[in-house]
Amino acid sequence: MAVSETELHKEAERLYQNLKNVGWTFEDCEIIAPLTLEINQLKKEKNAIILAHSYVTPDIIFGVADYSGDSLGLSKQAAETDADIIIFSGVVFMAETAKILSPEKTVIVPSREAGCSLADAITGEDVRKLKEQFPGVLVVAYVNTTADVKAEADICVTSANVEDIVNKLDAERIIFIPDKNMANYLRRVTDKEIIDYEGTCIVHDNINPSSIELARERYGQDIVILAHSECPPDVIDRVDFVEGTSGMRKYIASHPEKKRFMLATECGLADRFSVEFPDREFIGSCVLCPYMKRNELRNILQALKDPKPDQIITIPEEIRVKAKRSLDRMFEMS
Ligand code: SF4
Repeated sequence: MAVSETELHKEAERLYQNLKNVGWTFEDCEIIAPLTLEINQLKKEKNAIILAHSYVTPDIIFGVADYSGDSLGLSKQAAETDADIIIFSGVVFMAETAKILSPEKTVIVPSREAGCSLADAITGEDVRKLKEQFPGVLVVAYVNTTADVKAEADICVTSANVEDIVNKLDAERIIFIPDKNMANYLRRVTDKEIIDYEGTCIVHDNINPSSIELARERYGQDIVILAHSECPPDVIDRVDFVEGTSGMRKYIASHPEKKRFMLATECGLADRFSVEFPDREFIGSCVLCPYMKRNELRNILQALKDPKPDQIITIPEEIRVKAKRSLDRMFEMS
């Protein structure tokens, strides 16, 4: 794509206004400016949008994404968009969710290797076995699951609505899959009996409680520590607030008097918030999701220009329809 020096400079300046808050120099922004310009131009030509999860790198979030957020926010955007093509800069189960909700759209992932340890922890066949073992018990599936698992579940939840939905369900006992840590967290906030499963997120399960103790020792009451509900109980025990990433964002936005935060979640969120709340200080967890980091400007450009067959999400219609029912029940209850 032929672009003038003036256009490149203007684009680098646009990028720099956001990325300087996470240590990018103007020269760094000049290097990626041709890529972001080409991606944004191609989006218009192809009537495409880019949905980016908060854990991808800030050059994607602030350079080319049309919307960034958590699983729930991204699912809603996928369902509502008029675009013909959705480039899902996140992990594969999220792109599957977009396809379940918008089957008429072309949903593309920059990297097919962008998996998820939670989604990989359980299959549809495993859920069928659980239902045989606990007949009649409602199956609540965290959205971090594959389409065939969602198809076997009664309802989906995200970290943003799990507590609310589980408490509203007309059932005293539920099967909660696949995140064992989130199931443990749920036991703290609901009276329902929770039958759990052995899945964990490799990122949140590796957040070390001693890092939280160190931050507390160093800053005392001058720090607010926020944790994702995928964290293990010994982390949850030590923090001030537990929610998904959108809940953390709301908390920060509604507490302008608090100036320093530690985020016990994927480290990319600290970058995003550093740009969005430049007057606050964010201490990340230093734990990165290797799957999310498979998303790069270069593979987004390639996927937009000429996607390979394995980058285009397809789901058998019978599974998609059943999985959509579980997602629709979630939207009705949230
Ligand atoms: S951060 Fe954890 S839950 Fe999220 S995609 Fe990575 S492995 Fe999966």
